[in-house]
Amino acid sequence: MGYSKEEKKAFLKAFIERKPVKCSKCKGKLKYIGGGYYECYDCGNKEVDDFGKIKDFIEEYGPSPAIVISEQTNIPIDLVNGMLREGRLEIPEGSDVYIECESCGCSIRFGRYCPDCIKKRTNNLNGVFFNPEMGEKPQKAPKKGDSGKFYFLDHH
Ligand SMILES: [Zn+2]
Ligand SMILES: [Zn+2]
Repeated sequence: MGYSKEEKKAFLKAFIERKPVKCSKCKGKLKYIGGGYYECYDCGNKEVDDFGKIKDFIEEYGPSPAIVISEQTNIPIDLVNGMLREGRLEIPEGSDVYIECESCGCSIRFGRYCPDCIKKRTNNLNGVFFNPEMGEKPQKAPKKGDSGKFYFLDHH
């Protein structure tokens, strides 16, 4: 159920390979303008990467299980999951679908571990603020009985 180094590597490789590098209209160079969007230096055309596509989808249709996002955006499910695991994508408050802390299984909106488990692991409060794997717990826990919707960890 964990997220191995190999998976992380594969995710980053796939993400980088799929990232737009040239303007699709004039082949000009792109600059990153934030939110997964790139703008062409030459013609101003905008390109979007997988992160931007997923972010736009969630903004338009609300939080959705990874499998639905994957089907609607044509982005492989492993990449959708990887994006969540990397903390590149946050699940908004109020969702009844979250990812789980890999240590204690509680709900977190992004990252790999909840703040409590990070504290336990590092044994050092200072470490908490510098750990990129730390997620954030949602304000409200998801409703009980929705566990069938936890597709994020069950895609294998
Ligand atoms: Zn261009
Ligand atoms: Zn935890």
